[in-house]
Amino acid sequence: MEPLLVEIKQDRPGFDRFIGSWVCLGNLNVAIDVGPSNSVHRLIRSLLERGIERIDFVLLSHIHLDHGGGLAEFLDQFPMALAVCHQKGMRHLIEPSKLWESSRKVLGDMAHLYGEPRPVPAERILPHTEPGIDGLEIIETPGHAPHHLSFLYEDHLFVGEAGGNYFSLGESDYLRPATPPLFYLENALESLELILEKKRLPICYSHFGRADDSHEMLKRSMEQLLLWKDVISGEGRRGKGLIEKKCVDLLLAKDPNLEAFGSMPVPVQQRERWFLLNSIKGYLGYFSSLEN
Ligand SMILES: [Zn+2]
Repeated sequence: MEPLLVEIKQDRPGFDRFIGSWVCLGNLNVAIDVGPSNSVHRLIRSLLERGIERIDFVLLSHIHLDHGGGLAEFLDQFPMALAVCHQKGMRHLIEPSKLWESSRKVLGDMAHLYGEPRPVPAERILPHTEPGIDGLEIIETPGHAPHHLSFLYEDHLFVGEAGGNYFSLGESDYLRPATPPLFYLENALESLELILEKKRLPICYSHFGRADDSHEMLKRSMEQLLLWKDVISGEGRRGKGLIEKKCVDLLLAKDPNLEAFGSMPVPVQQRERWFLLNSIKGYLGYFSSLEN
């Protein structure tokens, strides 16, 4: 059965069709990511409306608020379910106060849109090294986040944000790196190489949708990361001040993957500007880490 992408609506203009959960139904019912705590009730309601009353496993691509923030509420609703998470991320789910503090610093008011995560009972979480789920292959894919995981399951690749954000827009599409600080280009490229070693499969993005050919998309992402390296390092060398904003304009002009930006509704452009800036900040931090 084809995996289902269930949208999790957010209370903010421009955030429609941006956050979702991938759900695979079969002998086991598996959900990949559950979205933020403030809106997880909408995911739960959508599943129940579809007659899905049992979830066996939640696979977390990473612990950011928009992927795992609603996990405690979700597990309350589905008492059979266990969550699988990178073993180094588990403690932040069990005791989320540090995660919440750092999210508030990085995301600003977006952290409050997503909401503060509740602690998840330790006995409901399995480390990614021993999930014991038939047919599941877990690939460690650091880059977007240090403890990021991708999943090969049911002949689909679920890449979280390892392949960036991808939006199919009918005739065109839009692909943006998701490289917030602390970002290390080599890790991100190595992770893409690792997923590329798997066979050609449909590829499912957390933000937001799917594409048919993982190899084509992953190569596109690698080329894009290298183009961004050239553009941003060139601008970084030219001087200080407003570099991030200049880079946004340059990348919008030079990166063909961002071409559809111009035809997006204004609130979506505003959202994308924020994420473009944040991804550029990741690159600038990466360049300064090379100098020190
Ligand atoms: Zn995300």
